[in-house]
Amino acid sequence: MASNRRAFLTATAVGALAAAPATAPTTATAAVGPHPHPTTAPAALAELLDGNRRYATDHSRHPDESRRLRRQLAAAQHPFAVIVGCIDSRVPPELVFDQGLGDLLCIRTAGEVLDEAVLASIQYGVEELRIPLVLVLGHERCGAVAATLAHLETGAPVPGHLALLVDEISPAARRTRALPGDWAEHTMRAHTAWVRDAIRADPAFTSAHVVAARFDLDTGLVSLLP
Ligand SMILES: [Zn+2]
Repeated sequence: MASNRRAFLTATAVGALAAAPATAPTTATAAVGPHPHPTTAPAALAELLDGNRRYATDHSRHPDESRRLRRQLAAAQHPFAVIVGCIDSRVPPELVFDQGLGDLLCIRTAGEVLDEAVLASIQYGVEELRIPLVLVLGHERCGAVAATLAHLETGAPVPGHLALLVDEISPAARRTRALPGDWAEHTMRAHTAWVRDAIRADPAFTSAHVVAARFDLDTGLVSLLP
């Protein structure tokens, strides 16, 4: 996989993706419509967590959905965070973090697994759009984790393309199998942290701050993982 990644992510290939390259931020916030964007990783994380608190307490502002902003964004985008999350319909990042158009670059796969398309998309956000923060978002009662655990418990074959999910999540499941408590929760946490660490260790992403977090389906709250 690594050699494929290197071959694909040449400077030329990444550069060609950038229809509207971002300019380097020089101020604490970049004025993009009515919702100033944070330009540092700590400020971006604070904005996400503030928005999540609004969402969880039913105080969402639903920012950045106006026709005026849509027209402004037509020329260029400057999202302030990359979210690597699950496809789960209950965890849409723009809603969970109370953000809108042009705010987040969201990459979603079942079980927030990594592959070359995901890594290339993160690199586009970090290098071309100069996004300072990558947040990996796992969540409780994840179907991809449940499918992985079911496969490990029964040994039943995994149909078709789902094998990729099981292959990617199984190491976390095996590492946590002996722990007391909720195996699915342990697996989700270990897998999400592993994805974070893999992104952190990749030299393509050294300019970004990378964190992992857990979304609670019951409370709507996002909490950072250690
Ligand atoms: Zn999920």
